[in-house]
Amino acid sequence: MAWRSSGATNSALIQNLADNGLITSDRVKTAMMNVDRAHYAPSRPYEDSPQPIGHRATISAPHMHASACEHLLPYLQPGNRVLDIGSGSGYLTAVFAELVKPGGSVVGVDHIQPLVDLASANMQKSAAGREMLASGQVKFVKADGRLGWKEGAPYDAIHVGAAAAEHHQTLVDQLKAPGRLFVPVEERWEQYIWVVDKKEDGSVERKKLFGVMYVPLTDAPAG
Ligand code: SAH
Repeated sequence: MAWRSSGATNSALIQNLADNGLITSDRVKTAMMNVDRAHYAPSRPYEDSPQPIGHRATISAPHMHASACEHLLPYLQPGNRVLDIGSGSGYLTAVFAELVKPGGSVVGVDHIQPLVDLASANMQKSAAGREMLASGQVKFVKADGRLGWKEGAPYDAIHVGAAAAEHHQTLVDQLKAPGRLFVPVEERWEQYIWVVDKKEDGSVERKKLFGVMYVPLTDAPAG
């Protein structure tokens, strides 16, 4: 599954993900068509696999980006507010921004300053990306994502792109009611995606979905 969706161009990759059932929503397909992965993945941008981006981080595989969008989709409506924790390359932050436009906003958080800068520089490579940064629809900040980003809360959707060692209540606290959190959580050497829904009445429902392999959500490296 990881490899068979690879393509020679961005649109071929996205079309293959759709043909293979990894993208089912037209909104996700259009958003991913609108963001060229070549601006974010330094080598083999149209391969359906994770790629190193430096600082021990990776840009996740396209099918994982698609899966995150599909699972958060009801909360990625025009005008919505989104938090992308562990924004790394900035690719998924940019796709979320496509999904919540017009009127929406996305904050990308990473704890490594050169990656915060990289995400911004990557978005600057397209006219649409420059416009989104200039207008404040997208911003990248350096912070410990385990604490969320209180300044922009509450959020309709929170995505975590690194595996948490525990269920962080602070992130649930920063959700709107209703709102949804998509987070990989590590338990006994295995990682699973959890979808946490805060309902309109404030009650919380957690669902464990499928096994994954993400880089860990950790303390920032020293120095
Ligand atoms: N969604 C990104 C994934 C990047 S890899 C992409 O596809 O490009 C995971 C990222 O999480 C790395 O950039 C890493 O620096 C970041 N990270 C790890 N622990 C973190 C923490 N405590 N706070 C914020 N970011 C963190």
